[in-house]
Amino acid sequence: MTALTAAGLSKSYGARVPAVDRAGLELRHGRITCLLGPSGCGKSTLLRLIAGLERPDAGEVRTPDRVLSDAASFTPPEQRDIGLVFQDYALFPHLTVEQNVGFGLNRLGGAERRARVMAQLERVRMADRADAYPQALSGGEQQRVALARALVCEPGVVLLDEPFSGLDGRLKQEVRAAALRTLRESGAAVLVVTHDAEEAMMMADELALMKHGRILQTGSPRDCYLQPVSPEAARLLGDTVELAATIRDGRAETPFGALPAAGSGPGRLVARPEAFRIADSGAPVRVGSVSFAGPFVLAEIEAEGQKAVARVPHALAPSSGDLVHIRLEPAFCTVFPD
Ligand code: ADP
Repeated sequence: MTALTAAGLSKSYGARVPAVDRAGLELRHGRITCLLGPSGCGKSTLLRLIAGLERPDAGEVRTPDRVLSDAASFTPPEQRDIGLVFQDYALFPHLTVEQNVGFGLNRLGGAERRARVMAQLERVRMADRADAYPQALSGGEQQRVALARALVCEPGVVLLDEPFSGLDGRLKQEVRAAALRTLRESGAAVLVVTHDAEEAMMMADELALMKHGRILQTGSPRDCYLQPVSPEAARLLGDTVELAATIRDGRAETPFGALPAAGSGPGRLVARPEAFRIADSGAPVRVGSVSFAGPFVLAEIEAEGQKAVARVPHALAPSSGDLVHIRLEPAFCTVFPD
């Protein structure tokens, strides 16, 4: 069920290009949407427009029942039924964990407020630190308190701006998994802003890819990864190999093999590096340098003056100078007409 819709939102700070340019998003209850894009592409600004921390120049933010922002009206952030988690957590340093989480509940009486706060702290496994001050907490613990504070009013929508970027390695994975569980249990419509493609694909039910203030594509992580709407969208989700192709007779031909394609004329094949499979037959290509990359090797291959980097399992790793046969895996390839 739709919780909040943003449509045609624009915001300019006076620079040559707007920070957010006619962007739209639909947030649904029980669904985690990840807004992914490079630094400076307008993600935080879009989140702030939805939260009501900024007024849009154009467009609207609404729930199914009411308009929150448009040309004529503006609901302040505290009346939007939205919980927020900021990148730096923004906990009040002079308040305890319990007081931080209870801050937005001052309309409730003491006993009820304490019960709600402690129940929420239990959910994020921080009840035993209720009397601690933020500076006594680790980054991961502060993150959990910030999450509890965002959820304690049981908001319909929760917005998180780069919530894990201050954490490293294993701790980040643990905190992320726990936060994901808590967010799912809340049933809220969740929007997570991140610049980390792997994180976005792992967390999201729905991805929104953003560049230069615009939403390029929305869809499941799988669809966005395997069926990009443009080379630009494909690049946001990971490495690509881009090759000139000739489209004719229902096929796109490249020096590394042909794939089914509609249309005719020149085009471009955008492939993931895992699309290049070493096989017993297929296009013969010469292997350039081969480098170790942890779980796989990267092999430079070249045919008819076009170059690609293949991601190959160790067991099939070729040596530099080998002549190998390449088969293109269609699932990891998309053809775009020029
Ligand atoms: P992201 O979150 O994707 O890194 P932002 O939304 O923070 O991107 O920023 C988008 C663009 O808007 C950037 O060029 C940034 O410098 C600019 N910007 C963001 N906030 C402000 C502001 N308050 N005043 C002026 N420019 C801003």
